[in-house]
Amino acid sequence: PSFEAALKNAVRTIPDYPKPGIMFRDITTLLGDAGAFRRAVDALVHPYVGGKVDKIAGIEARGFILGGAVAHQLSAGFVPIRKKGKLPHRTVSVAYALEYGTDEIEMHADALVAGEKVVLVDDLVATGGTAEAAVKLLRGLGAEIVAACFIIDLPELGGAERLRAMDVEVRTLISYE
Ligand code: IMP
Repeated sequence: PSFEAALKNAVRTIPDYPKPGIMFRDITTLLGDAGAFRRAVDALVHPYVGGKVDKIAGIEARGFILGGAVAHQLSAGFVPIRKKGKLPHRTVSVAYALEYGTDEIEMHADALVAGEKVVLVDDLVATGGTAEAAVKLLRGLGAEIVAACFIIDLPELGGAERLRAMDVEVRTLISYE
């Protein structure tokens, strides 16, 4: 199978999770498949090998798993972006809109130095609201965002375009209409 087909075969789709009408793309099966996990991480890393990336920022929780592996391969540092209230030291935070209500993500205020080159990593981009908030957090600390990388794009929800409109380079490996 092609690279995309092999990755898609490793992703499991759960209908009506977490609520009716949602097709949840579950990457735990991909993570549990040694070959698929390696191919996905290798593909995320590929453009930056031999270049200079200072930090990988991963969004809780699946972005931690992927981002940790990506950071290791690039010999970059890792910065966790977490839901509000989980980080112990002084934080900066950004609120963002959900379908109903708002949520807030945070990172440590000293997690990076202005001018550092950062790649943002998460498993999936849907509306882009989470990643947009992460971009605001990182830029607020003076990071230069090299790219935002995801395994999965849901293009109908417009997240990748929303990030590109903020001048963020977006890379995704597979997409579901
Ligand atoms: P967005 O903010 O609408 O782009 O939603 C993206 C965030 O929600 C990411 O952190 C994803 O991990 C999570 N997410 C949304 N839909 C799915 C899905 O179908 N599978 C896995 N994660 C999802």
